[in-house]
Amino acid sequence: MMRMSTFQDFGISDATLRALQDMGFEEPSPIQREAIPVILEGKDVIGQAQTGTGKTAAFGIPIVETVDPRVPHVQALILVPTRELAVQVSGEIRRIAKYKPLKVLPVYGGQSIVHQVRALRQGVHVVIGTPGRLLDHLERGTLDLSRVKILVLDEADEMLDMGFIEDIERILERLPRERQNLLFSATMPPPILALTRRYMRDPVTIRVTRDDKLTAPSITQVYYKVLERNKLEALARILDAEEIEQSIIFCRTKKGVDELTEALQARGYLADGIHGDLSQAQRERVMRDFRAGRIEHLIATDVAARGLDIPNVSHVINYDIPQDPESYVHRIGRTGRAGRSGVAITLVTPREMKQLRMIQEVTRVHIEPRDLPSAGEINLR
Ligand code: ADP
Ligand code: MG
Repeated sequence: MMRMSTFQDFGISDATLRALQDMGFEEPSPIQREAIPVILEGKDVIGQAQTGTGKTAAFGIPIVETVDPRVPHVQALILVPTRELAVQVSGEIRRIAKYKPLKVLPVYGGQSIVHQVRALRQGVHVVIGTPGRLLDHLERGTLDLSRVKILVLDEADEMLDMGFIEDIERILERLPRERQNLLFSATMPPPILALTRRYMRDPVTIRVTRDDKLTAPSITQVYYKVLERNKLEALARILDAEEIEQSIIFCRTKKGVDELTEALQARGYLADGIHGDLSQAQRERVMRDFRAGRIEHLIATDVAARGLDIPNVSHVINYDIPQDPESYVHRIGRTGRAGRSGVAITLVTPREMKQLRMIQEVTRVHIEPRDLPSAGEINLR
């Protein structure tokens, strides 16, 4: 089989090639190399590849090539689990469609629905949305999905998980049966994979994971064993000792995010928190400040940070150990993206050692134990 090694080999339009060049994409990533030709053939695809390896463009490029700008209907629908991801994915697709007259619209809760209704009425080709708000539009009759040719579930396992599945089913009822289905994620637990058969037609499964490992090789993974009551102090020492550009620090609960954010701010760190209970305006402000580097440490819950692509995140810190291996993979995948290096640090209490072992078994990586830095090793801030 001929190996596709340049974007030109896909036979895509000059407009798209030029846009990819502007984005600094020199050659396709492995998942793009494998998935793009199959998607362009019109096949259903289940695509699994490590975090930060360009899954968005793997479905975004074929969408931009397939959607017809002269047809004023929604032709591609991308479902994502969070508002932040709706904004990010539509940004990437807009950049790919830079030289095409395509209208790309993120549709998510918390944003003025009137504004969205107006934009939808003017004709949109590609919609990227969160399930709740999409259903809202469907019920109001302000969104017509009857001409959708391509459906994407980004972060597919999260979308097909308990929290979303009912909403997804109701949305799918409004789509034509004849359509192309694409599922992408870094993790695809077996029960979810079994479920996908209900939604797909003869899917081609494309799995690009190096040496069977679920996490990117560019991420250094370590853990510190600490007592529950010493966690804040341990975290502060780590933050002072590590050369951190920006970090995302994960907590188990929203309350935990609020408390840790306050504690770090009180100690003088440039930190702020994000979770689902904040207002949309607050979420957007925090994300803007973080992307702009005005915040150094972002404290977050799992869902708030899924899929986020922020280039300067050098460290991911699990202040609370993740509940399951999938969550670990997605959390630490916020660093080490697009070939850059990153560090993932997990704080583990003695009772949680079992969880750490399970994470190592499933991800097939060795997480290195470390000793807390002593005062002498701490950088002067
Ligand atoms: P994933 O969804 O697999 O976690 P993303 O689609 O968010 O990853 O891509 C991660 C980063 O890599 C983004 O900033 C994206 O613009 C960049 N990227 C994607 N494909 C390429 C490529 N072929 N060349 C260079 N950078 C790329
Ligand atoms: Mg992604």
